[in-house]
Amino acid sequence: MQVRAKKYLGQHFLTDLGIASRIADTVDQTAERNVLEIGPGMGVLTQFLLEKEKNLQVIEIDGESVEYLKENFSRGLDGRIIEGDFLKFNIDTLFDGASFALIGNYPYNISSQIFFRVLDYRDRIPFVSGMIQKEVARRLASGPGNKDYGILSVLLQAYYDIEYLFTVPPGVFAPPPKVDSAVLSMKRNGVKSLPCDERLFKTVVKTAFNQRRKTLRNSLKPIMKEGMDTTSDLWNRRPEQLSVADFINLTLKFQ
Ligand code: SAH
Repeated sequence: MQVRAKKYLGQHFLTDLGIASRIADTVDQTAERNVLEIGPGMGVLTQFLLEKEKNLQVIEIDGESVEYLKENFSRGLDGRIIEGDFLKFNIDTLFDGASFALIGNYPYNISSQIFFRVLDYRDRIPFVSGMIQKEVARRLASGPGNKDYGILSVLLQAYYDIEYLFTVPPGVFAPPPKVDSAVLSMKRNGVKSLPCDERLFKTVVKTAFNQRRKTLRNSLKPIMKEGMDTTSDLWNRRPEQLSVADFINLTLKFQ
């Protein structure tokens, strides 16, 4: 009989309860009561989240983990387990359309996609925390002038205040991942909407970073309008030198 290989789900289960508890405590930073945990696995974080005065729901893609949770957390999680893919799940139906905080020891292979989804739902997600690959956490939290600074850093920092909280070594997971991990938190800032076309902002940021070694005058050529004035010094810079405010100013030139 042929055994079908299981799809890789980014499963690295946390075995250190002290760290699980510290990650769960990050939700104390938000007054938001609704909390969604992505990828609870065997519930190592979930058990600590259930001790909080929060309205918890969890979403898990792996059927075996869902079975395990149903058997072992039947009281606390009754009716609160969604078996599904966070990237495909219809978020509009969650918490009856109310706002919610997001937490997890996230599947690292899809963490960028998770954060792009957060951006789409930023007005319903006032707070995000949890564990991701250290490199990605660095990138999200870093500012201009840093080589880690990139598309997601700019887009997320336009709407969230991001804090790198602490580093976690591979040895506290089973199986251990090849990389270091880190815990971060993101709080929605006061910006309701940017003072420029927000879709264009995204396009400008993505286009600029797609060729991050080039100056903006060159990298943004594909989206430039005829007769655009590119004499100012801004156009001689590279994308990693621009703050969120600089990118907003740049976007305004394209409008
Ligand atoms: N929270 C657990 C497991 C972390 S591993 C712990 O700390 O031990 C990441 C978890 O995310 C796994 O349980 C995996 O099955 C789940 N997962 C992977 N992709 C997912 C997706 N698209 N939607 C929801 N859960 C997912």
